[in-house]
Amino acid sequence: MAASSRDRVDLPGTVVTGRIGVTMTTAAKVLVVEDEAPLARVVAEYLRRAGFDVITSGDGAEAVNLARVFDPDVVVLDLGLPGLDGVEVCRQLRTFSSCYVLMLTARAEEIDKLVGLSVGADDYLTKPASMRELVARVQVLLRRPRTHSAAGIDGILRFGDLVVDVEAREVSVAGRPVELTRTEFDLLAALAARPRMVFTRRQLIDAVWGPSWVGDEHVVDVHIGHVRRKLGDDAEEPKYIRTVRGVGYRMGSGT
Ligand code: CA
Repeated sequence: MAASSRDRVDLPGTVVTGRIGVTMTTAAKVLVVEDEAPLARVVAEYLRRAGFDVITSGDGAEAVNLARVFDPDVVVLDLGLPGLDGVEVCRQLRTFSSCYVLMLTARAEEIDKLVGLSVGADDYLTKPASMRELVARVQVLLRRPRTHSAAGIDGILRFGDLVVDVEAREVSVAGRPVELTRTEFDLLAALAARPRMVFTRRQLIDAVWGPSWVGDEHVVDVHIGHVRRKLGDDAEEPKYIRTVRGVGYRMGSGT
C-alpha cells in the first residue's frame, strides 16, 4: 500500500497528500469479517455510506486471503468466527499487513482477555454495536498516527543506527551497508514493520516462507542468528532483535 495514502485523512475516504499539495480522492479500504451475513451487510452498508470502499467475508481463512489482495486500511473483525477465529485471523494479518484491526466481541469481558494476549487489535467494540459508533471508530483509527509502525512516509524503518529501507531492500548500521540474503532481509523487515509485536517462529515463517511451508520452525533461529551477526547484534545484550523466551522474537534492545 502506498505510504502516501496514510498521510492525512481529512474526510472519510479522502486522502490529502500534503507534501506536494496535490489532492486526490482515494477511498480508504475496509474489510469486514463477520459470519452473521445480515450483520455483515449492515456494517458494510454503513461504512459505504461513510465513503469507504468495503468488502466482506464470513470466513476467517478466506478473509486472510482476501486481505492479501485487497490490502485493506482497516479490518473490522468479529472474534467469533467458524474455523479460524478472530484472534488467529488477527495474528495472521499482522504477519503481512499493517492495517488497523477493530475487533468485535460479544462480551465486554473478552476485551481484557484479548488485550492481555497481545493479540494486536488496535481497538475493540462490544456487540451489539451501534453502527454510528462503529463507523466513528473506523474513522478515528484512520486519523491515528501510525505509532505501532516505525515506517515513515518514505517506507524507511529506523531503530537507533539501524536503517531498513523496505522499498529498496537495503539495510545499514551507522551508515555502513549490510548485505543480507533475501530471507534474512524479509525476516528483518517483518520484525521491523511491527516493532511492538512479538512474533512466534510460525508467524515469521508465514510472513517470509509462506503459510504452506512445512518443516522445523527452528530454521527461523538459524536465519535470525545470521541477521544478528551481520548487524553486529548480540543475542545476550541485543540492540535490535530481542529473543522473547518461549515465544519468539521482536524488535528492540534489552532482554
Ligand atoms: Ca460471529
